[in-house]
Amino acid sequence: MDAVIKPLRAAGSDAENTTSTTTSDPNRPSRSEAEAAVKVLLKYIGENTSREGLIDTPRRVVEAYDELFRGYHQNGEELLERTFGETAGYDDFVLVRDIGFTSHCEHHVMPFYGNAHIAYAPVDRVVGLSKLARLVDVFASRLQTQEHLTAQVVNAIEKTLKPRGVAVLIEAEHTCMSVRGVGKQDASTLTTRFTGLFRDDPQLQARFLTMVRGPGR
Ligand SMILES: [Zn+2]
Repeated sequence: MDAVIKPLRAAGSDAENTTSTTTSDPNRPSRSEAEAAVKVLLKYIGENTSREGLIDTPRRVVEAYDELFRGYHQNGEELLERTFGETAGYDDFVLVRDIGFTSHCEHHVMPFYGNAHIAYAPVDRVVGLSKLARLVDVFASRLQTQEHLTAQVVNAIEKTLKPRGVAVLIEAEHTCMSVRGVGKQDASTLTTRFTGLFRDDPQLQARFLTMVRGPGR
């Protein structure tokens, strides 16, 4: 049995996405300070911030930031705490592929987006498959590098599920490369990380890659 499932993006309409992001951090700027900062940037590019179309833009930008960067207020490891022991002796790895995500690069605060593919070899307990998709969303909803995102997903699974191995492949397009900078439209960046069995067994690693690339995509 190959537990390959269809795209499983935790949609942006999740109730938790609208959760208030107010915290008691005394160093955190207020919402009106954040809106004022957006106004400064708009003026910097040469805009007239009092024209009709831009009146509400600072507020909208800050609200968009609250949504896009909600991951700072979510805990990825907590997602994986609930596991299931009834696996009927299933002893192969579990693969969830084509987990679509959008994140933002920490160097330019521009989107990068693509797909994550996650496999793990459970010891005797498994986690709900949608949790792996949500795990990607939690880490993607922060400023990231693709390398760091890959490592954080692996580390959270390692730490909470303590599996026999984890394999993660992330492929993404970086808009800071496609719409600015070198302007390369179709370049995609691949990052991988293998632990345990996936690191030590080249055949298992090859099977993972074949299944990720396999039919049915
Ligand atoms: Zn960038």
